[in-house]
Amino acid sequence: MSAAYDQLLDATIRHLEELKSRGVQHVAVAPETLRALATTGSRKVVATPARPAPVYQAAPAPAPRPAPAPIPSPFKPLPTRPAAPAAPPVPVAVTPPSPRVAPVVAPVAPALAPKPTAPVNKAAAVAALRERTLICVKCPHLASSRKNVVFGVGDIDAALMFVGEAPGADEDVQGEPFVGAAGQLLTKIIQATGLTRESVYIANILKCRPDTPAQTSGNRKPTPEEMTTCLPYLQEQIDLIKPRVLVALGGTAVEGLLGKTLGITKLRGTWQTYRGIPLMPTYHPSYLLRNQSMSEKRKVWEDMLQVMETLVMPISEKQRNYFLKG
Ligand code: URA
Repeated sequence: MSAAYDQLLDATIRHLEELKSRGVQHVAVAPETLRALATTGSRKVVATPARPAPVYQAAPAPAPRPAPAPIPSPFKPLPTRPAAPAAPPVPVAVTPPSPRVAPVVAPVAPALAPKPTAPVNKAAAVAALRERTLICVKCPHLASSRKNVVFGVGDIDAALMFVGEAPGADEDVQGEPFVGAAGQLLTKIIQATGLTRESVYIANILKCRPDTPAQTSGNRKPTPEEMTTCLPYLQEQIDLIKPRVLVALGGTAVEGLLGKTLGITKLRGTWQTYRGIPLMPTYHPSYLLRNQSMSEKRKVWEDMLQVMETLVMPISEKQRNYFLKG
């Protein structure tokens, strides 16, 4: 290979090492560039046999979206999402190659890079975020008391995402949000809209159960510090999932997402915005379990009707009249 090529290779390696030391994990390389590098005349790129999985290997193509749920899916009338760009950049791991191995990177990487982009494969990105979350020890007291990190559950392509406060004892044991009594009520509320639990996404402000060292049972509200520490995970989750509508369940969820401490009684039923996404605050299902009055249930249902309207979901007369007397 020419001296110029060697210089370029050295510069590329130095650049990638520097990026890696700054915490960058991916750089964007256009698929055409990868193809060109692999086939350009005498510069043909060959991975050494000792490297079964080259570090610069392109990520797999995005999995096709699953077919829409069969009728009567309330999501069916939703306008289709914009099509994915034809040939998005392919994320490649930022691990400098062995100096002996010609890198499959853009030929003038220092000039082009860094341009970190969202990974093309959403499922892989969510899985990677989940892996990072599962080993989080940023709150040592919670990391040592938890049984499981409760990342979130549901369809990562969901148009509707619910955000609660924090896992309780049941969620901590099962590693899934909203599986206890409040969770069962939430599932019923979701089903009343015509959706299923599996077709929405459910997560919490806090991924670990708030510890209760002085007591053997019960829950406590997350502290502001715990919320601030954990929030980046939820933000990333929302950024990846990109729901069309968020529902914040209870005052803590509103506080965590919007920083508003006005109180859920004042805020519920009034549209808010979280990073450009319409957000409906409503009562937490555990509040409805404590307060069984029809009027409070009706309020939550009215909030859900607003959500359904915004999502252009069909609403039957029966649904409109739930909890109305006479
Ligand atoms: N309450 C919440 O806020 N989240 C859960 O996951 C369970 C109960």
